[in-house]
Amino acid sequence: SLPRTAWIGLGIMGSPMAENLLKAGYPVTGHTLETHKLTRLAAAGGTPAASVREAVADADVVVTMLPADREVVAVARGDDGVLANARPGTLFIDMSSISPATSAALAAEAAARGIRALDAPVSGGEAGAVEGTLSVMCGGERADFEEAAPLLRALGTTVVHCGPHGAGQTVKAANQLIVAANIQACAEAVVFLEKSGVDLVAALDVLGGGLAASAVLARKRENFLSREYPPGFRIELHHKDMGIVTAAAREVGAALPLGTLVATLVAAARDRGDGALDHSALLRGVERLSGA
Ligand code: NAD
Repeated sequence: SLPRTAWIGLGIMGSPMAENLLKAGYPVTGHTLETHKLTRLAAAGGTPAASVREAVADADVVVTMLPADREVVAVARGDDGVLANARPGTLFIDMSSISPATSAALAAEAAARGIRALDAPVSGGEAGAVEGTLSVMCGGERADFEEAAPLLRALGTTVVHCGPHGAGQTVKAANQLIVAANIQACAEAVVFLEKSGVDLVAALDVLGGGLAASAVLARKRENFLSREYPPGFRIELHHKDMGIVTAAAREVGAALPLGTLVATLVAAARDRGDGALDHSALLRGVERLSGA
């Protein structure tokens, strides 16, 4: 029978991901802060749990999908946390995007308790989570990755072992650098095209057929056209990720001239009060700079 899975964090991503596991036949016990998400899990065939401790007690696999380092550390450590309450031998897969250093440190703490950790952050957005087409970048022992791979393939189509503990998070940090710079470039192109009086729909159609084509250009097209930015991926989460990639790059001596600039623009968007909007709202910053 399939491994009993505890799922902690049923937000924009975690909720549809846990539902895909249920559809694949995995028994899922879930815990999260919003009760309506627990109701939704139960409606999909899962079992709601009132605490992390309760969720992980009988689990073979524990998955966390939480906002940032602080929440993952809080859920992992402490008397009521994953490490103190999961059984030895449990596979602990953190799919949140957190710093590689925190991820490696938690893996070492887990190992001391006989718990096997993997970092497995994802890319593909809410649509990828719903459709089960995420890209999953995994760090940890190869044998543990092989064991987790069938479960991860229920959530994503591109599932890759990238290296030791933290390597998945390093790849995710690079992913976030590329995505933010791509959104910023697309946003600048949109404002430039519009101010030039070119039909935006025609322009985006033809740009999408050439070297400028990207998942960002295709998936954020409606946001750019409508100037509406429901999340999606919130600016405040991307701000967190730009902090992760700039710090990790500094540590290894990799220059990020463009990344540093984009990080500043993401921070400015958050400071203007756009933190809860989708990251395609970087367009608003370009409009402001253009006097719109
Ligand atoms: P979210 O804020 O929608 O969901 C986070 C969930 O964690 C919420 O349900 C919240 O209740 C729960 N939570 C927080 N603290 C908790 C605690 N102490 N105990 C139990 N539950 C707790 O965030 P999201 O958009 O689903 O993102 C989750 C992670 O995935 C983030 O690290 C994000 O960077 C990453 N990510 C998001 C996207 C996206 O498009 N939204 C895409 C790829 C990766």
